[in-house]
Amino acid sequence: MGYPENPILVLIDVDPSGAPASSTAALLGAAATIGSPVAVLVGAADDAVTAVAAAGASVVLTAAGDASALAVPIVDALQAAYERVQPDAVLLSNSISGRDVAGRFAVRTRTALCVDAVGVSRDDEGVVAHHSVYGGAYLVDAAPTYGAAVITVRQGAVEARAEAVDAPVVEALEVPASGAVAASVGPVETIEAVSSRPELRGATRVVSGGRGLASKEKFVLVEELADALGAAVGASRAAVDAGYIPQSHQVGQTGVSVSPQLYVALGISGAIQHRAGMQTSKTIVAINKDPEAPIFEVADFGIVGDVFTVVPQIIAALDARKS
Ligand code: FAD
Repeated sequence: MGYPENPILVLIDVDPSGAPASSTAALLGAAATIGSPVAVLVGAADDAVTAVAAAGASVVLTAAGDASALAVPIVDALQAAYERVQPDAVLLSNSISGRDVAGRFAVRTRTALCVDAVGVSRDDEGVVAHHSVYGGAYLVDAAPTYGAAVITVRQGAVEARAEAVDAPVVEALEVPASGAVAASVGPVETIEAVSSRPELRGATRVVSGGRGLASKEKFVLVEELADALGAAVGASRAAVDAGYIPQSHQVGQTGVSVSPQLYVALGISGAIQHRAGMQTSKTIVAINKDPEAPIFEVADFGIVGDVFTVVPQIIAALDARKS
């Protein structure tokens, strides 16, 4: 079959139930800004095709997965899609699985690998990946000059969305097994965290708390503001180390990188390792009682004050507005 002009191959992460991950819309949106998105689904449920078409894929290539083998079957399928489509670039989520697959795929196909891009664009010479580096202090462009760029895209960083496609072309890939050694997964136990709050990765609003919250009991204030804003809850490493909140909420160099529309930092000093994970947020609001706190250097709006005085007033104002 003929593929659209300037095809951009997009590997869709799927969850254990076979559903496309929440990173799908932004990946296809990014692809649509530089070409025509061609989605690759490996081991996905039947209705995943409809979901990725709704998110903008005009062509969907499918392959059976192997739930017991890590990465290799996905790399095999991606390679088959790559050889078939000859894309201008390959986009993947900068998730744990996406990074694993991207690295293996780039080595196999001898293509250039750009990780953790916060955006993509196209110039006269081809596809360009944009990165936020050194804790967000610099923006750097990477423009591979050989082959298709393999780019992992930071979750939540891309706002562009592609137009929905009503009738996508769906094609089953023939995937020759590479025979590469794959780690295998033993028994899987699913633990579901029940929360009414958005997931931190990819959230459009995040409220994070730091050591300034002073105790686990008082950290509830962060959750109250998050609920008033419909936001996910994040934390600094100091708050995690002090036991105020589990590590899965840590934002920063050794935690989750977020790029929400709104990031509210409560009682967080703004160490470089924290900023590395939130500095690309679109609007940053900081509340800290120390006017010299480095977080104010990156904040769009800053309030010098005690979180225990200021935050209840913000929550009351938000509640008043809602009612
Ligand atoms: P502090 O630096 O102690 O700041 C607390 C702030 O709260 C202060 O600015 C204070 O003025 C303010 N405050 C206190 N009381 C109040 C109040 N009542 N009202 C208002 N403000 C108040 N950190 C991360 O966050 N994420 C990471 O991923 C990460 N990775 C790291 C990796 C490495 C290799 C290393 C060495 C460090 C890493 N860190 C990380 C730790 C980082 O260097 C800082 O120590 C940490 O971010 C500090 O957290 P904090 O801002 O909550 O605490």
